Amino acid sequence: MEIDILKDFSFTPVEKSKIDTFDFENVQFGAKFTDHMLVCEYKNNAWQQAEIKPYAPIQLDPSARVFHYGQAIFEGMKAYKDVNDEIWLFRPEENFNRFNKSAVRLAMPEIDETIFLDGLKALINIEKEWVRKGLGNSLYIRPFMIATESGVIASPSNEFLFCILLSPAKSYYAGKIKVQIAEYFSRAANGGIGAAKAAGNYSAQFYPTKLAQEAGFNQIIWTDSTHTKLEESGTMNVFFRINDTIYTAPTSDRILDGVTRKSLIDLAKKEGYNIEVRPVLVDEIVEAAENGTLKEIFGAGTAAVINQIEAFSYKDKMYELPNMDNEGSYALDLKDKLTKIQNKLADDSFGWTV
Ligand code: PMP
Repeated sequence: MEIDILKDFSFTPVEKSKIDTFDFENVQFGAKFTDHMLVCEYKNNAWQQAEIKPYAPIQLDPSARVFHYGQAIFEGMKAYKDVNDEIWLFRPEENFNRFNKSAVRLAMPEIDETIFLDGLKALINIEKEWVRKGLGNSLYIRPFMIATESGVIASPSNEFLFCILLSPAKSYYAGKIKVQIAEYFSRAANGGIGAAKAAGNYSAQFYPTKLAQEAGFNQIIWTDSTHTKLEESGTMNVFFRINDTIYTAPTSDRILDGVTRKSLIDLAKKEGYNIEVRPVLVDEIVEAAENGTLKEIFGAGTAAVINQIEAFSYKDKMYELPNMDNEGSYALDLKDKLTKIQNKLADDSFGWTV
C-alpha cells in the first residue's frame, strides 16, 4: 500500500539529514535515532492529527502524570530491508494489538490503527535510507505512550502523547548468557501488570538484575510469586529443552505475550519439533540438569531473536548446560529459520512479513 503522507499526516522534514554522520558499522543498540519521529497528542477525548517531524526533545510540565505515577507503555519491533531494497515489518499487527492491551490495563486510550500502523509505514517510508540490508541489520522501532496531563493527582491522565522513534540496529553476538533463577524478587503477580509492556515493569527489574550482574550473571529468570514456576528472562520469553521436547510457559497475567515466542511455537510445530506449552517448574529443570536430560535453555525476543543460556544458578548452585551447537541445537536451528523469514531469505508460508 502506498501511503499518501501529506494527506494523512502533517510532515515537517529536517533541514539537513544526519545520516552521513551515522556510523552504521559501529551501532550501539538503541542509542541513536533517525531524522524524524511521529507524534500524536490525545486531548478532549480524541486523538489529534498525527505529525511526522524532526527528532527533537519534547517539553512537558514537571507535574505531568508520567513522571509521578508511571502511566507509560511501549512496544519494540523491527523493520528489515531485503536484497531488492524492499522494507518488511514482522507481524506488526501483533505489536499494535499488544500496545492497545497494555493501554487498556494502564487506563490509557487505545490508539487508532491508522496512527500506529499507517503512521509507522509513512515514517519508515521517509526514513528508508536508514534501514540497511544484510542479515543482522535492522531498524528498531519504539512506539510509546505517556500521560502528559499536569497535576500531582494520583488518577489517570486525560491527556497523552503517542510517539514512534526509529533506531538503526545491528545484530550482535552477545555470546551465551548465564542466568540466576529468582528466589526472592518477583517481576509480576497474578492480577498485576506483568503482561503489559508498561514502563514500571522494567524499572522494577533494574535493582534485582543489578544484584544478579554483580554476582556474575547476565540476567534473571523470573519465577511466579511462589518461586516455583519459571516464567521469563529479562526481556525475553524462555524455552527449555528436555531430551527432545521443548517446553515454554503459557502466557498469563504475569508473562508478556511475546511475538517471537508465539512465532517460534508455530515454527517449531511446522518443523516437526515436539513443543509443549505448559507451566515449567523450577524443580523439574533442576532435576533435568542433574540427570543430564536438560539439553538447552534459550530466551526469545525481538532484540536478539534467540539468546542461548549456558548456565543457571539456583540456591547458590551452578548448573552448566551441555554445548549442543554442533549436535543439532534446536535453538540455533530455530533462530536461523526465523531470522531468514524476517529478512525475506526464506519462504514465509505463515504470511508474517508485511
Ligand atoms: N518478555 C518481556 C518482559 C519483554 O520485554 C519482551 C520484549 N518485548 C519479551 C518477553 C519478548 O517479546 P517480543 O518477542 O514480542 O519482543
